[in-house]
Amino acid sequence: MSNSILNSKFNLGFFPTPLQALNNLSKKYEGYQLFIKRDDHTGLASGGNKTRKLEYLIQDALDQGCDTILTAGAQQSNHCRQTAAACAIAGLECHLLLGGTEPKQFDGNLLLSHLLGAQIHFTGDNRKGEDLENIKSALESKGKKCYVIPYGGSNLTGALGFVNAVGELKQQLQTENLQLDYIFFASSSGGMQAGLMLGIELFELNIELIPISIDKEEINGQSIQEIVLRLVKEGAKLLELKKDFQLQDIPLNCNYDQDGYGNVTEKERFAIKELAQNEGIILDPVYTGRAFYGMLDCLKNHQLKPNAKVLFWHSGGFPATFYYGNQLK
Ligand SMILES: *Cc1c(COP(=O)(O)O)cnc(C)c1O
Repeated sequence: MSNSILNSKFNLGFFPTPLQALNNLSKKYEGYQLFIKRDDHTGLASGGNKTRKLEYLIQDALDQGCDTILTAGAQQSNHCRQTAAACAIAGLECHLLLGGTEPKQFDGNLLLSHLLGAQIHFTGDNRKGEDLENIKSALESKGKKCYVIPYGGSNLTGALGFVNAVGELKQQLQTENLQLDYIFFASSSGGMQAGLMLGIELFELNIELIPISIDKEEINGQSIQEIVLRLVKEGAKLLELKKDFQLQDIPLNCNYDQDGYGNVTEKERFAIKELAQNEGIILDPVYTGRAFYGMLDCLKNHQLKPNAKVLFWHSGGFPATFYYGNQLK
């Protein structure tokens, strides 16, 4: 049953993504064994966690006979850049609604979205997809068959990508004969988190998720936990899971989002340099830099059980590094 649901996807990336040990940092943060899951290497126009969601969303759009995709995000949205790449592969027209006004110079993800052929609409203060329905109506009046992907690709269809990802991880853990205690990751629009929570139930893994909140702002009046709860309840029905999720079952560590979305501080700079200079792996300044700082802070303060095996799920974001260059020096 759930297998046929998880098989209905359009191939967009390189899977499984590598699972690696962080040997140097494991020595430095004594008492823990650290690992990383490399979704920064999904292969879709530099990779990232949206590739997994888009495999299910693009398949759904094709199944519905749509020829045009609309989605929304920030100007440096990794989701929008990967959506533009997915549309190029699938032969779909792509419209991106990006907050703010058109900048003089395009760089980072915005530049890539442009190169990938997306039609870009700058939506001013409407930063989280408020204008999607208006632009959709305008395109439909021109005869387009539109498919709207919500902010961050975070509906249940998109979240299936991370249900499937847990199955992928389970196989890697079996092959490596490894058992994890914790998974840290950056949580923002909630789709990755909902998918991981559902996947852990479906594949019966005993691992604690520690999502690090990135953005303290709500999305259309809902908190991340409310969004995740709605998705996991819907997902539990679809996947025929027994678990009846409640709000208190939705983990979220909000200790690191106080500086606001996209504001790079010494914490993100420290985390980025720590992973880069010990392991040769680059984090992004908005999502994974913040989440990795949160993980290191929990390790330093011994908030995890002793000798724990800890995975950081790298969700991508590489192109934004160059946009934020001045704040990373
Ligand atoms: C979108 C994104 C996230 C957050 O994923 P959500 O499913 O929106 O919570 C984390 N890291 C990166 C690099 C992202 O682009």
